[in-house]
Amino acid sequence: MKVGFIGLGVMGGPMAKNIVKSGHQLTVHDLNAEAVARLTEAGAKAAKSAREVGEASEVVVTMLPEPQHVRGVILGPNGVAEGLKKGGVVIDMSTIDPYTSQEVGAELKKRGIDMVDSPVGKTSEHAATGTLTLMLGGEPEVIERVRPVLDCMGNERVYCGKLGMGHAMKITNNVLATTIMAANTEALAIGAKCGLSLETMLEVMKTTMGNNAQLYVAMPKKAFKGDDSPGFMVKLAGKDVRLAVELARKQGFEPFVAAGAQATLDRATKMGLGERDTAALLFLREKELEIKVRPKTA
Ligand code: NAD
Repeated sequence: MKVGFIGLGVMGGPMAKNIVKSGHQLTVHDLNAEAVARLTEAGAKAAKSAREVGEASEVVVTMLPEPQHVRGVILGPNGVAEGLKKGGVVIDMSTIDPYTSQEVGAELKKRGIDMVDSPVGKTSEHAATGTLTLMLGGEPEVIERVRPVLDCMGNERVYCGKLGMGHAMKITNNVLATTIMAANTEALAIGAKCGLSLETMLEVMKTTMGNNAQLYVAMPKKAFKGDDSPGFMVKLAGKDVRLAVELARKQGFEPFVAAGAQATLDRATKMGLGERDTAALLFLREKELEIKVRPKTA
């Protein structure tokens, strides 16, 4: 297929590479020239604008940071919608809110272009191996049409409902995962400040309802090793939780726990840690409280 890809960052870069490797003709665009160069070296063609990507493609994938980027790149001046022909499909894989994707999808529909939302679960490592979880929203017939492209990027697909429901699912998932991660940081800081070792806390919490995958799978890979290279950046985790808080308020209720996680992430961003991995939340507490939450062997 003739595929376009816009947004070649931590996630989009390796996802796009897997599309070229599978033999599709790929045209790419990103504001970052180095990110584009990594893809042209892998066999993709570079386009100067999102519109050019649309002109060269039957299917365009977007993997961008925030809702306003997705709206601008697709519907804005020189955007994908100006280039993509009738019958084309846009697959938005960014983490954004369901209302934006439904509004963008409705605008595209007027031009005879279909849209699918397919935000992704798991990490950049899974992006590299094409084993992401795809949370799909849109018309099943359209999803089937773009399946050869989706199959390059993910090996687990969950159909969530009409357009936007993939994004609703992704935000639901991420507010949970991120809130648990922020809660872990705080709990470990309390324990460490009392004088408990990381080993003692992990030995106990493994056996109790405190057990969670952030603590036993994610944090040993980065936070407990002192590594806050991205990964999943604080500013993106903050954006996901903010979107969840806004969604809850739109639905008429106050999400007290998520609002706490949002405050934690916003504070870290204000302290200059936005571009670091979420492991930086633990390091911030360590610095402020003069503690170390690390294995004795580290
Ligand atoms: P990133 O910041 O590494 O990549 C975003 C890319 O988009 C950058 O290369 C940037 O230059 C490009 N970009 C921004 N605005 C643009 C524009 N107007 N035109 C062209 N290019 C533009 O972010 P990421 O980690 O790859 O995340 C992308 C999306 O995926 C986000 O919505 C994020 O929340 C979500 N996500 C991230 C992870 C993760 O672990 N990093 C996991 C799942 C989902």
